[in-house]
Amino acid sequence: MENTAAASVYVSRRENTRPDAPVLSVLVPVFNEEEVILHFLEATKPVLERTGLQYEYVFIDDGSRDNTADLLAQELKTGLPGRLLGLSRNFGKEAALSAGLEAAKGDIAIIIDADLQDPPELILQMLDGWRAGYDVVYGLRVDRSSDTLMKRSTAGLFYKLFNRLANIDMPANAGDFRLIDRAVIDALLRLPERNRFMKGLFAWVGFPSMALPYERPPRKAGNGKFNYWKLWNFALDGLTGFTTLPLRIWFYGGMIISLAAFAYAFYLTLRVFLHGIDVPGYASLMVALLFFSGVQLLSIGMIGEYIARLFNEAKQRPVFVLQDVIEGTEPQTAPHV
Ligand code: UDP
Ligand code: MG
Repeated sequence: MENTAAASVYVSRRENTRPDAPVLSVLVPVFNEEEVILHFLEATKPVLERTGLQYEYVFIDDGSRDNTADLLAQELKTGLPGRLLGLSRNFGKEAALSAGLEAAKGDIAIIIDADLQDPPELILQMLDGWRAGYDVVYGLRVDRSSDTLMKRSTAGLFYKLFNRLANIDMPANAGDFRLIDRAVIDALLRLPERNRFMKGLFAWVGFPSMALPYERPPRKAGNGKFNYWKLWNFALDGLTGFTTLPLRIWFYGGMIISLAAFAYAFYLTLRVFLHGIDVPGYASLMVALLFFSGVQLLSIGMIGEYIARLFNEAKQRPVFVLQDVIEGTEPQTAPHV
């Protein structure tokens, strides 16, 4: 895919600079996941042990109101390597991931959902990709039948629109589930914006990337945290964060409409001279009125979307607020199984 000739030259160069024994940071955003979090640990631990590498978990408790944090704190106190960052409220998954990236100490980060929709076994293949020189190995959902038809089609539409409008290539159906090298983590940490549309940011920072197709199973337990209103806002954040075309397009729209209006005005004037004044048309007036007020509202609204985001960026508020950190043990290699 991105495996162009230029990329492979770069890839083989980086391959030699890989540390032999990288430390893995496993970033897990959690929001009310008490039903599934222990299953998650049970499923991921054996895989992480099979890597033979040192690893740490970085859990980000995104303001859970259930027992998730207590369960994790208990595990960390009894020997689980890593830490739990407690955010002061629910900031959303994107903010949680930013918190996790800041706190990750490893040479490699793996971003994975807690609900086991991201199969942990894939971590091994991701590591193979990393060893082959890729800085990003992202999971590509080939089968999204666990999502509703509505979610799949709206998501498909969004990816099409995004890639058409924004000047970066965001692979369709790639989620947040991925491995990223330290170089990518550092690049992401340097991005100052508050609008953390992670999929867009991942694509924006670039680096040699490899796709790893997988089938996305349904949630193991608990409920999905996103509804359509949240997804719509998420999509707006994505688009406005990465393209200004919706703002600029009105210039051309306005130009075309003005030209047409000018031609029509010319024709009307000419007609008066040739045939005299005839019956004024209510319908055409009404249509023109409605059409232009619609266009105007739409364009003002579009500008509003950007101004709102400018406003948010200008406030310079932090992306998240950390309430507490619970430390587990140091990164460790568990005995081989
Ligand atoms: N999540 C989060 N904050 C939120 C919503 C979700 O940290 O505000 C976490 C959630 O605990 C899970 C992951 O993000 O680990 C994905 O959430 P979910 O399964 O609801 O999303 P979906 O699979 O529907 O995309
Ligand atoms: Mg999920």
